[in-house]
Amino acid sequence: MENQETTISLPSIKLQNLTHLSDYIPHLPKHPNPLDHNQYFRPFSGFYITPTDVILHNVLHDVSIKSPPPNDGGHLAYHRAGPRKEIFFEPTEVRAAVVTCGGLCPGMNTVIRELVVGLWDLYGVREIYGVKMGYRGFYSSDFVQLDKKLVHTWHKSGGTMLETSRGGFHLNKIVDAIQDHGLNQIYIIGGDGTMRGMVEIFNEIKRRKLNIAVAGIPKTVDNDVGIIDRSFGFQTAVEMAQQAISAGHVEAESGVNCIGLVKFMGRRTGHIALYATLASRDVDCCLIPENDFYLEGKGGLFEFLEHRLKENGHAVLVVAEGAGQDMIPRTEQQQQERDESGNPVFLDVGVWLKSELKKWWARDHPNELFTVKYIDPTYMIRAVPANATDNLYCTLVAHSAIHGAMAGYTGFVSGPINGNYAYIPVEGVARTKNEVNTNDHKWAWVRSVTDQPDFMRRYSTATN
Ligand code: ATP
Ligand code: MG
Repeated sequence: MENQETTISLPSIKLQNLTHLSDYIPHLPKHPNPLDHNQYFRPFSGFYITPTDVILHNVLHDVSIKSPPPNDGGHLAYHRAGPRKEIFFEPTEVRAAVVTCGGLCPGMNTVIRELVVGLWDLYGVREIYGVKMGYRGFYSSDFVQLDKKLVHTWHKSGGTMLETSRGGFHLNKIVDAIQDHGLNQIYIIGGDGTMRGMVEIFNEIKRRKLNIAVAGIPKTVDNDVGIIDRSFGFQTAVEMAQQAISAGHVEAESGVNCIGLVKFMGRRTGHIALYATLASRDVDCCLIPENDFYLEGKGGLFEFLEHRLKENGHAVLVVAEGAGQDMIPRTEQQQQERDESGNPVFLDVGVWLKSELKKWWARDHPNELFTVKYIDPTYMIRAVPANATDNLYCTLVAHSAIHGAMAGYTGFVSGPINGNYAYIPVEGVARTKNEVNTNDHKWAWVRSVTDQPDFMRRYSTATN
């Protein structure tokens, strides 16, 4: 059969511009990329990425749309990550620092390792420092000098060898310390809060017109960072989460009228709960922050579980930590409570659900056996080393960040978009979040494999 093709024209493209050090520091000298002479690389035509190489954010397009509709902002595009032919740092003059902030996530040590080894091997940088204890470490602790040998096996360990913390963000103290130590490349690994801090550091460095590149690598085990495909550590987390569901299932099956209740991380988003539910297929009901639920009455959780227990003698209930937070009674003090970074403190939805389930059963079935086996694998999941896929991701994302900083870009984050690595202005990443879309196929499939109630129906009927 003849190959039939139709030619279509692309919609308008809106390129997300990056800040370059030369935008505010005139006459910055350029240098040839040392990869030209690296014994392992043979730069071929197209090896170096040019500023016109872009990655489209939305790869779906309706070809029947011939011209962009009025007010169409255009398809978003981002600069492609990778080595540039000319760089803006003389490698022997680079003094780089790496910092990790926020909670743990599988792969943090791999990212640190690959930043060190990448700077060392790709560009010949020798002055690389680890900032301990998160942001506060810039001004309150000695740096650790990092070298290729020291970090050699770090990817095999969970956690962060640099230690992490929350809070301690004092902008001027941090930027003063960066200046005092003569640092000129800062690599920041952290979650949404860390990225908001990075925006401030980047703006202050720009305001002071300093020749310092700031690069971010988003870390969030919950996969709640927007724009990028997924964050490192997420696949490892889902694998571990699946194991926790299996344990919950075994416990539930082995008891009488037993519910295996498994709680996963996910304050704002239920991605881990959703993916692990779909992967395991042992789950009877999956509760996530994006989809409010209720306990009592028609179509409620209790009624559903009652049917499942009658049918199967057991049930597995998965809940993301941010689900049901509005339903848990809080003391006035708990309402005001914040962690060191200023985030609201979440109450343990698993402990609350367990207690509510027990109260319900004792009330409605006073003479029947009933057990809830509650599994909270949070720290077990966060603390493991990255699996093979995440380890490779960490390597590529770290090397992308290095190429970007060496090329003089600043205030950017590196991450995958549609499977390709891109540089994204940090403000965009700090602003957006990746929520579960409860109207899409994945969530519909969760409902299909669990046959759980459509809790939203009651809410929509109540508001209609
Ligand atoms: P995760 O929530 O995934 O564990 P995170 O980066 O969001 O990671 P946080 O504890 O919220 O973790 O923040 C990490 C660091 O960023 C802390 O040092 C905190 O002080 C700082 N930070 C958080 N929010 C801001 C903000 N709006 N402006 C400046 N700094 C911030
Ligand atoms: Mg956070």
